[in-house]
Amino acid sequence: MQATILDGKATAAAIRERIGQDVTRWMQSGGAVPCLTAILVGDDPASQVYVRNKHRACQQVGIDGRVERLPAETGQAELLELVRRLNADPEVHGILVQLPLPQADDPAARIDPREVLDAIDPAKDVDAFSPVNVGLISQDRPRFLPCTPQGIVRLLAHYGLRTAGRRVVVIGRSDIVGKPIAMMLASKDGVCGPDYANATVTLAHSRSSDLPSITREADILIAAVGRPELIRGDWIRPGAVVIDVGINRVGDRLVGDVAFDEAVAVASAVTPVPGGIGPLTIAMLLQNTLDAAKRSAGGQTV
Ligand code: NAD
Repeated sequence: MQATILDGKATAAAIRERIGQDVTRWMQSGGAVPCLTAILVGDDPASQVYVRNKHRACQQVGIDGRVERLPAETGQAELLELVRRLNADPEVHGILVQLPLPQADDPAARIDPREVLDAIDPAKDVDAFSPVNVGLISQDRPRFLPCTPQGIVRLLAHYGLRTAGRRVVVIGRSDIVGKPIAMMLASKDGVCGPDYANATVTLAHSRSSDLPSITREADILIAAVGRPELIRGDWIRPGAVVIDVGINRVGDRLVGDVAFDEAVAVASAVTPVPGGIGPLTIAMLLQNTLDAAKRSAGGQTV
């Protein structure tokens, strides 16, 4: 069997084009220019690239992408003050703090990322990290959906790969990917309709025993681990769909959490790295920013 390669780049381009049309229509009808402000602390090269890519993507669809750059020595109080200022700024609809935040050697001077993320107004929390937004997702009445999990569901829907009634195994239990995608696929009403929810979900992690025997049960296997090529071909059930979220730098190459060549020989469909879930993550950030602008105009808080 030779798997279909799920082209995240092309799918994201189509979604971005549609968002661009929506932004134009929204502004023609008198809506405010949707605005996303990214906070970048320090000079981590990978974070700079991520913020630059997000900024460029905003510009391409007509969203006002702003970046607040702060030096690595910035303290917690200063960062919280900036978040509060952006919360109060009616021109700003979405706020994101680029992670990881730099960590000072002196423990007393360290930034607590949780406190900073919690300070973002949930109505502007386009990454959907705040406890309020996570709680809304868990109750099947989401306001924002976190970008990477939302991108996964949209990619599955784009290719007609239904999840309802099927066994999904998610590896990794992070707040950003593993836990929310497990919750979303187990829910009743999915972001792309019930066909792309209603799965029977297993959430595996670093303390799961005999991981290969768990992954072999999966009709749809989602890897969000951060370990290069951990998942081998013989961990995959023949004909399964494999979604590889991992982005790992090995020398000068980027590889996923799945041994791609081995997966292609066993699975029915596989996402590549790069060019799989990554581009969709950014497209979903644009979608959430446009949604935030529309909600703010409607005076909605939930
Ligand atoms: P994380 O480090 O917060 O969580 C990793 C999870 O993997 C943990 O829950 C841990 O229990 C589990 N884990 C670790 N080692 C394991 C093992 N040997 N066996 C089973 N489980 C194990 O990571 P994250 O933020 O969820 O990111 C995961 C990967 O996805 C990273 O490579 C990251 O770069 C990538 N990522 C990609 C995108 C994208 O847009 N494509 C977005 C976010 C994260």
